Amino acid sequence: MTTIWRMDADDDDKPHEECGVFGIVGHDEAAAHTVLGLHALQHRGQEGAGVVTTDGEHFHSHRALGLVGDNFSSEDVIKTLPGFMAVGHNRYSTTGGDRLRNVQPLFGDFAFGGLALAHNGNLTNAISLRRRLVDRGCLFQSTSDTEVIIHLIARSRKPSVVDRLSDALLHVQGAYALVAMSNDMLIGMRDPLGVRPLVLGELDGATILASESCALDIMGATFIRDIEPGEMVIATRDQVESRRLFPKTPSRFCIFEYVYFARPDSVVEREGVYEVRKRIGAELAAEDLAPADIVIPVPDSGVPAAIGYAQAAGLPFELGLIRNHYVGRTFIEPSDQIRHFGVKLKHNANRATVAGKRVVLIDDSIVRGTTSTKIVTMVRQAGAAEVHMRIASPPTRHSCYYGVDTPERSQLLAAQHDVREMADMIGVDSLGFISLDGLYRAVGKRERHATDPQYCDACFSGDYPTPLEDADCGSTTSQLSLMLEDA
Ligand code: SF4
Repeated sequence: MTTIWRMDADDDDKPHEECGVFGIVGHDEAAAHTVLGLHALQHRGQEGAGVVTTDGEHFHSHRALGLVGDNFSSEDVIKTLPGFMAVGHNRYSTTGGDRLRNVQPLFGDFAFGGLALAHNGNLTNAISLRRRLVDRGCLFQSTSDTEVIIHLIARSRKPSVVDRLSDALLHVQGAYALVAMSNDMLIGMRDPLGVRPLVLGELDGATILASESCALDIMGATFIRDIEPGEMVIATRDQVESRRLFPKTPSRFCIFEYVYFARPDSVVEREGVYEVRKRIGAELAAEDLAPADIVIPVPDSGVPAAIGYAQAAGLPFELGLIRNHYVGRTFIEPSDQIRHFGVKLKHNANRATVAGKRVVLIDDSIVRGTTSTKIVTMVRQAGAAEVHMRIASPPTRHSCYYGVDTPERSQLLAAQHDVREMADMIGVDSLGFISLDGLYRAVGKRERHATDPQYCDACFSGDYPTPLEDADCGSTTSQLSLMLEDA
């Protein structure tokens, strides 16, 4: 029997980022630059992408399911997107949400004109707000939490678009890095805690907003600074203005951006991601050195931490696992009898490197543990004498409600088992995780202070920095998306 094997089945054992956002104002080729920016941010979402442009009078939009390169590389598409200003969005959709109607930027036609809105993050009171809005007669077009903001803007009685958006954001809770575009201005906004990243850049006099600095690098734009938590930036062709919508509070930036989500060549919150990941590896070696001959990364996200680990431990760094970068999303599997075929589509052990060696595998995280188990089996079958594993994040014991798709707690291996049990289940000779304090040292802080943690680390600590109004029923980001469909 022939089986269609979906690549997501393997990918599903990793947390997924939900979105990347990009905006530019004051450039004749706004659409083409937005497509470039989205291409650089593709790692933040692969299910769909959209671009909305304006010439100051009319809005133009193209949204599609799939990768940026597959849907926006044609000149014919770019020609349909004229204007001096554009916003774009990459989406990673949660279960049940990968429909075109949920692909952003969302667009609303208001009394003051049009507004396109792109959102990275997750609102933790979207269901409650949506129910209230539906009771008052609002008709929702999508199942996205972002649409709540559109309706709040529509209902605001404030006079200007900026005041209406500000008014709307006073009602929402959770994580948001927003890029919005009216007829004549580009607006960027981060939530009061700055959970998700947003940076400001400049190119030939044009102002740019993007999730990460790698989106500036691809077009030769200059990085200016991070948008501050609680800050709203309003840019026109002529000027950039900053407003503070919320009083300054200590930031709670997502620490997992450094471990896994952000691209290694990005600088986020003044720290280079690649260097942080190497320091995480060095901390890991200092805290829990494995009795190994060689250090092997689980590619690609484990590579910088493995380099840091190997340098600190004085051990050889070897590519003992090879990743196939040309794997599409679906495959015809020749036979159901072939076991572990799925994971071998993506990774294969380098037998000549690992045979007879005591290896330490470095990975970024363990979620369900299914992929780790398969990789360890593969390395053992390739002849490794011992297999140890060290993880560049603390045990993931809690779900994320801030825009990262993690399973519910019952499916998180570390929420159900201690490290010794996890080691037995994965099949390693030893297993170790970096401590939370070690992770804080690696990102440049002394240690974690319980009263002022400085980062969101809730998936490790359970210390959620905002109220979880919709989550009282125990729902994760992924489940919240499904519940929005019923709200
Ligand atoms: Fe990031 Fe974890 Fe906080 Fe989610 S819960 S924002 S993944 S640190």
